[in-house]
Amino acid sequence: MCDCIFCKIGKGEISSKKYYEDDDFFIISDISPKAKCHYLMIPKNHYKLISEQTENDRKIIAKMFDVLPKIQHELGLDGGYRLIINQGEDGGQEVPHLHIHILGGEKLKSF
Ligand code: AMP
Ligand code: ZN
Repeated sequence: MCDCIFCKIGKGEISSKKYYEDDDFFIISDISPKAKCHYLMIPKNHYKLISEQTENDRKIIAKMFDVLPKIQHELGLDGGYRLIINQGEDGGQEVPHLHIHILGGEKLKSF
């Protein structure tokens, strides 16, 4: 049995407000926000790393990039946003289920 928190949220086994959902991915708020708006865009298929992606996983990432600009207004991101994907230990990945952080709602510090 899968013990992954994001799989459980995706299947509705743990409730979480979904700002967007389709058959392939969903968007929730990060439980520990690092900006005024901090969302997580999460594919429903469980895998950890970009290096593990199938062709279909890549298609779903492309779909995310298609959908996000269409709903950015609803998400309070009219001023823009920053996308981050943490990968592996050095990247600081805590949850081993690929996800894209969406940060915005304010002017972010440059890095
Ligand atoms: P990462 O370090 O890229 O793996 O990020 C994992 C993110 O998931 C962190 O920013 C956590 O705050 C967030 N997180 C962990 N559990 C939950 C949860 N149940 N609901 C929403 N966000 C979560
Ligand atoms: Zn998972």
